[in-house]
Amino acid sequence: MSDLVLKKITKVFPDNTLAVSNLDLEVQSGEFMVLVGPSGCGKSTTLSMIAGLEEPSSGEIYIDKKLINTFQPKDRDIAMVFQNYALYPHMTVYENMAFSLKLRKWEKSNINKRVQETANILELDSYLDRYPKSLSGGQRQRVALGRAIVRKPKVFLFDEPLSNLDAKMRAVMRVELKKLHDRLGATMIYVTHDQTEAMTLGQRICIMNNGEIQQLATPIEAYKNPNNLFVASFIGSPQINLIDGEIILKQDQYHFSSDLFKIPINKKYILNQIDMNQAFTIGIRPESLKVFQHDNEDCLFQGNVDLIEPMGRETFAYIASNNQRITAIANPYDGLNVGDKISLVFDEKNYSIFNKQSGKAIFNSKT
Ligand code: ATP
Repeated sequence: MSDLVLKKITKVFPDNTLAVSNLDLEVQSGEFMVLVGPSGCGKSTTLSMIAGLEEPSSGEIYIDKKLINTFQPKDRDIAMVFQNYALYPHMTVYENMAFSLKLRKWEKSNINKRVQETANILELDSYLDRYPKSLSGGQRQRVALGRAIVRKPKVFLFDEPLSNLDAKMRAVMRVELKKLHDRLGATMIYVTHDQTEAMTLGQRICIMNNGEIQQLATPIEAYKNPNNLFVASFIGSPQINLIDGEIILKQDQYHFSSDLFKIPINKKYILNQIDMNQAFTIGIRPESLKVFQHDNEDCLFQGNVDLIEPMGRETFAYIASNNQRITAIANPYDGLNVGDKISLVFDEKNYSIFNKQSGKAIFNSKT
């Protein structure tokens, strides 16, 4: 097991594209770290610099406290798994997995032992004589994992390894990857643009945008206490509700006030000094807005159902109100219909308030 440290890593491509900017990241030994963010945010470039496929413009990369910037990819003791599997089509599963050990001139009996051991972990034992073309997508991805595992590298890097699989197989492979991590206890860095994958796999997630880290936290911490508007809207499905308003102070009591509602806010959760002249945005997760089909004395605001999405266990109800679209969670057995007038009751313990201009969280009720 090994730790990995990135110190002030910057990558500017020859055409002056700033892909990664001053990135500091410490991945602990044995940790499953996920880099997540929208397309073009610099995740793959970061991974490529760790692997040695791209050279940083500045900054330092350490594995086990050793500076590896000048090391060739093959000397970094890193294994990388890509989305397109990159299997050799003319080699069997066995040969694909044995290839890197052969290159390293391992003895045949040792190769055989390690490949069998790995095939066993990945339940590929009965496929060793097959060629990649006769395997399913999930099986191919397991072979790609097997190729990475046989070498017992210091660090595993994954670049969107599940994105070629259908939704069902992705869910299966997510579980397998998690089990694999538990079993190997290896340091893993995993890149994805899919927040569900990040939330379910990462022990910590590093949320990136425009080449910079927006938040580095456990999945639940990022979900509950987002640092800024970007993280709040990127993490969580369905998306968080963002409602613009202002903060007013009346008789020593702060209120958040919008076109839809006004609520008192507890001073003790305010993170930063509030400049009252600024515009603010409140973020409320859909599950914090409960739908009632009759008047309710705790009603925060009322609206008409614009659209419903039955998900089975719950129903997403979309409400159009004052030009804002709000998402709430309804009981699927309540028989909600489009056009119904509903009352929304707010679980006040769960919300964040952001400075609209800077995007920074100024209030997290969950801290
Ligand atoms: P995706 O999820 O789409 O793969 P990403 O977050 O992995 O995106 P990168 O591939 O790291 O993003 O790209 C970061 C930025 O650097 C993007 O603006 C991209 O266009 C740019 N970029 C990547 N490779 C090069 C290159 N070789 N030359 C110039 N610009 C590049």
